[in-house]
Amino acid sequence: MQRIHTQTEALNQLSVCFLPNIMKKHNFSAGPSILPQSVFEKASKAVLNFEDSGLSILEISHRSKEFLNVIEKARTLALQTAGLDDSYEALFLHGGASTQFLSVPYNLLKKKAAYIDTGTWSSKALNEAQLFGNVAIIASSKADGYKYIPKDFNIPPDADYLHITTNNTIYGTQFHDIPNTNIPLVADMSSDIFSRDIDYSKFSLIYAGSQKNLGASGSTMVLVKKDILGKVSRKIPSILDYQNQIQSESMFNTPTTFSVYVNLLVLQWIQEQGGIKNIEKRNKAKAELLYNEIDRNPLVEGYAAKQDRSLMNVSFFLKDPSMQEKFDTLWKNANISGLKGHRNLGGYRASIYNAMPIESVQVLVDVLQEFEKNS
Ligand code: PMP
Repeated sequence: MQRIHTQTEALNQLSVCFLPNIMKKHNFSAGPSILPQSVFEKASKAVLNFEDSGLSILEISHRSKEFLNVIEKARTLALQTAGLDDSYEALFLHGGASTQFLSVPYNLLKKKAAYIDTGTWSSKALNEAQLFGNVAIIASSKADGYKYIPKDFNIPPDADYLHITTNNTIYGTQFHDIPNTNIPLVADMSSDIFSRDIDYSKFSLIYAGSQKNLGASGSTMVLVKKDILGKVSRKIPSILDYQNQIQSESMFNTPTTFSVYVNLLVLQWIQEQGGIKNIEKRNKAKAELLYNEIDRNPLVEGYAAKQDRSLMNVSFFLKDPSMQEKFDTLWKNANISGLKGHRNLGGYRASIYNAMPIESVQVLVDVLQEFEKNS
């Protein structure tokens, strides 16, 4: 009782802290990244007292009925959000998207797989696949610094699957047209999952690390069409075996319980926003606001080819690198955080994921305009 008493006191203190603008920074970080304020609040409360159980979400058993309820709801809501029927399963696994680079070929590659190389992450994915069989890189924009999404490619009909990275977090490009295929389509959607209203049933397997549009780092969501599984003859280690994970309902070993709970909160938040259609509208408005300024402002230039620009990660450079210090001081003074570009590319990158309010994008636009005025 003493303990609950202490938690109640802590909760009371917490509610005092929950003033509207607790997050004073405009966080443009690429991931882990901004999440909805309501998710931060609910997750904080659950750390102290999960659904009035007198226990923290961090200490409840993954086999408890409370947690089983969390993961079951998260799996159902994930499929519902994607508009997928019960021919698919939703899994919440360990190991980040990087483990999926390996699990995908382990489970699906018999002889040959096709990959489109659109950046660092797709290149890492195809490197792992090469451990398992023949990999046909059917298109690549590597020679042009991954500035665009290749449009001209032939999908070999004898490949076991085609793998694409729908959004290239580092370079700021995105597939706006999803390829039509007669073979299973597999996608790394780590940085644009549930950001737009696309036909998710075009994909036989989708994976996404949580730490951008889905929640806290830790869990990795996999949406998989069951009929593509069980076709390889190799033995698959249990933890990487999708069929085993489906059978175990993502509970083959201890799941990343807190991260899965945050997944549930984020999926519920998406529903509260009116679903992906509304989210997409907002994402388009944010991206348009920022790209318009980048195109207008004579001191900066966008990196990605215009027709392939990402709605999630906006990469840009200063035309005159000697002005870097001045620009950095301006955005830091405006309480902006996480604007530095990825170390592979340099420059700047504004990640404007689902939870980023348009008001924060406006702050960055104002900074860019002030930069121009003062230069
Ligand atoms: N794919 C994409 C598109 C990414 O942006 C990232 C990392 N940000 C990864 C894969 C690797 O994810 P993880 O760190 O979860 O392994």
